[in-house]
Amino acid sequence: MNGSPATGNPPPGVADHNTVLTVLPQRERPSAHPLGSVPAGWQGVRSLYIHVPFCSHKCHYCDFYSLVDTRDRQAGFVDRLIRELEGVAPWFAGVPLQTIFVGGGTPSLLRVDLWGRVLGLLQSHFDMGAIATGEGEFTVECNPETASDELLRVLARGGVNRISLGAQSFEARHLRTLERRHDPVNVPRAVEAARKAGIARQSVDLIFGVPGQTHAEWERDVERAIGLGTTHLSCYALTYEPNTAMTARMRRGEFEPIEEEIEAEMMRWTASRLRDAGLARYEVSNFAAPGAECRHNLAYWRQEQWIGVGPSAASHVLDPAGGSRRWRNVPRLDDYLGWAEPLGPVTDAEEPDARRLLAERLMTGVRVAEGVDAVGVLAEARAISDESAERLEGGASRLVALGWLEVANGRWRPTDDGFLFADRMARELMAAVG
Ligand code: SF4
Repeated sequence: MNGSPATGNPPPGVADHNTVLTVLPQRERPSAHPLGSVPAGWQGVRSLYIHVPFCSHKCHYCDFYSLVDTRDRQAGFVDRLIRELEGVAPWFAGVPLQTIFVGGGTPSLLRVDLWGRVLGLLQSHFDMGAIATGEGEFTVECNPETASDELLRVLARGGVNRISLGAQSFEARHLRTLERRHDPVNVPRAVEAARKAGIARQSVDLIFGVPGQTHAEWERDVERAIGLGTTHLSCYALTYEPNTAMTARMRRGEFEPIEEEIEAEMMRWTASRLRDAGLARYEVSNFAAPGAECRHNLAYWRQEQWIGVGPSAASHVLDPAGGSRRWRNVPRLDDYLGWAEPLGPVTDAEEPDARRLLAERLMTGVRVAEGVDAVGVLAEARAISDESAERLEGGASRLVALGWLEVANGRWRPTDDGFLFADRMARELMAAVG
């Protein structure tokens, strides 16, 4: 995974799914696959997520499901992945895929011949028509070091039209602190190689709030990223997830985390500078030129349907009986490889009730510039109880009075200040629903 588990704001891919899932109670592994009760092709799912778990090294801040493969399991993984892709393909029948996102892990670590097999399977089992015209989006996360010219050409031929490049910083010192092992010179090289290969859109991930980082250093990182001329930037604040080496080092007193006020100031400056550079903030940590927003992530944030394949990948589909179904593949490669059925081994299956769906809609809605449909969420709250609706309206009014939310075109939308307090707003509104 390129990004950082930042400010409660996940980078693309499985971490997005996990954000949703972390607010759900943990469930036992279900006895039957949740797709079993959803007729294949019903409503045609339009978004596909593929999780590639391999990394060459575990970065110290990372809590995504990824591993250093010491047993050369790439070919076995692709065999298994292809069976799972064949297994889920019927649920995509009848509609062109709108978005594919390959995250990880480090998808660019997968060997080129194996990539060829995955791309061939996608072409033969899924409707890639919208992606071929550019109406649809096909993103692959790449590490600057492993995004070779050859790989990028193969990806482009297979329909990939967007890469997300994990730069994180251009300062070797900060990369060392994060235990990221790539040379910053490979970032512009990879962007250029993607362009030459014909991959139209590039995004770059940066991390701020690295221990010891000054405001001036962060400004330099942002300026260098702007200088690459990409149409999308993700700027994540470093966060300390419970079970990471970085958090353990902090607890041992090896470094002090950056002060909150300095981090907030970095965030404020970033939004203003990127706006001047033509990249508008469309989510707490994501900035894009008009029309260059990540459509796959917007699908998550809008609670649309997606199916994830690969270990730890999460899925969300609508249920013909009403409501929706969520689940996640078991986050263990050996379990995944050893699973005999075409559909993956599932854990954390859930049928979120109306209250939970509303809470999640509010949680993601206050993080995106488009906000949330106020009339719609109030109607959903009223369907739960009049008290819920009253509390929600009262909560939103308080946030408007604080200057964190604004009401525009019938939507509650975060203000510039509100983006800084998105997590607090989400907690307040979710608590109001009860
Ligand atoms: S490259 Fe680093 S941050 Fe990304 S998934 Fe691998 S270990 Fe995690």
